[in-house]
Amino acid sequence: MPRPKGFRRVAGAPICELYKPAGVPASQLGEIVLELDEMEAIRLADAEGMYHVEAARVMHVSRQTFGRILESGRRKVANALTRGLALRIKGGRVKMADMRVFRCRTCNSTWDEPFGTGRPEKCPECGGGDFMREDGGPGTGGGGQGGAGRGQGRGGAKGGGGRCGGRGGRRGGGRQSGF
Ligand SMILES: [Zn+2]
Repeated sequence: MPRPKGFRRVAGAPICELYKPAGVPASQLGEIVLELDEMEAIRLADAEGMYHVEAARVMHVSRQTFGRILESGRRKVANALTRGLALRIKGGRVKMADMRVFRCRTCNSTWDEPFGTGRPEKCPECGGGDFMREDGGPGTGGGGQGGAGRGQGRGGAKGGGGRCGGRGGRRGGGRQSGF
């Protein structure tokens, strides 16, 4: 009897919900569904080059489970690429990690970082080291307030009609919400 799956933590919504071979109408394509936890495993292990032990901790799963998720995800991506299938990224038993928001005291810009990545080294705008948490997390001080200059359109997971480009510039601040 299969064990019920627990929730896996992922850092955020995928940048794009659908990848497909160019020039072929979606209606004529086979489709593979890559679940969000598989996508996250690939991101951590292959895009970020993280050790499996560490990546498993970030996703709140055992190392063994992480290995299984990763393998399954890689197989799907490989299948899509080699068989010319569309890849739809959705589903999976996942919980989105909230982003941590930082504000630079020097240039006053804000940016966000997923949990589990440690404290950022410097402000991505000016390179200064004098910044603080602004999202009510530890080290914020106040907490609870709505956060004046945040305005990053997050939560693009729902309702994004499968179009890319929603989350482009993570450093720039002025990010579109995809609507
Ligand atoms: Zn700065």
